[in-house]
Amino acid sequence: MSDTIHHVPPEDAAERRAAPALICYSIDQLPPCDMKLYEQVRQNMTKVSELTVAPRDGATFNVPEGHFFRIVSIEGPQVGDLNLWNAHDLSERFFSGKTRQLHATHVSTGDRLWSSLPGLRPMATITHDTLDWYGWDEDGGGIHDVIGTRCDPYTNFMLKGLDYHHCCHSNLTRALVTAKDILPREAELHIHDVLNVFMCTGFTHDTHQYFMKASPVRPGDFIEFFAEIDLLGALSTCPGGDCGSSHSDDSTPCYPLLVEIFKPAEDSLDSWKSPARSGYSGSHGLS
Ligand SMILES: [Zn+2]
Repeated sequence: MSDTIHHVPPEDAAERRAAPALICYSIDQLPPCDMKLYEQVRQNMTKVSELTVAPRDGATFNVPEGHFFRIVSIEGPQVGDLNLWNAHDLSERFFSGKTRQLHATHVSTGDRLWSSLPGLRPMATITHDTLDWYGWDEDGGGIHDVIGTRCDPYTNFMLKGLDYHHCCHSNLTRALVTAKDILPREAELHIHDVLNVFMCTGFTHDTHQYFMKASPVRPGDFIEFFAEIDLLGALSTCPGGDCGSSHSDDSTPCYPLLVEIFKPAEDSLDSWKSPARSGYSGSHGLS
């Protein structure tokens, strides 16, 4: 927002500013989320596979509905950029903006990752987060950001006039090219705004500008998700490393991230049902 104000405040400016702030969406109205069940199930799950995402690179992974997956810090503080799709339909994908509106600027245990319109259903539920102790710091920063988009070579080119090929957007694109055997131009249209796993961000108090600071994540920390539908995931190890200094270049130390997939015990999810797509008719007022 511009620093220059061109208009004199009206006489009732104070009154107008004093209008009460209302939470836009009531969490109580969301479809029920049985965290007790998830907690029970995760006590008896078995690891079935894992993959390591190399520094400044990306990789995809599949998670069947009813399974859990973890993103684990293994060698040093590292931020990950996560994309999620319906494994059977790439047009249904993680909706970062709606997730932010429904939950908050940063997400943790009990929050859900919602899918794009017209699906609008929980794709995944966060079932454990070893960084939940962080809360909000004095700068207003929090962890696991759904404000920012992924870093990308177009913005980098606009700002620096340089080609850089290991931004998260490109890492995710290359991963999807490999997974789906499609051309980069097609793949990058499926890349979407991310969950910035382990990233510490906020808005400055004075100018409300987006800031990042070094992530507090350390090896052993993880965030865990329950797959509400069959998922294709893609994870990029951000070239910003812990996102505490420079970005979109090769100067920052970067570390791998581990993805682990867990299968629940037999019959432990008998009372659970995968959520359906939105029940809205889709007519938009047209006959
Ligand atoms: Zn990035």
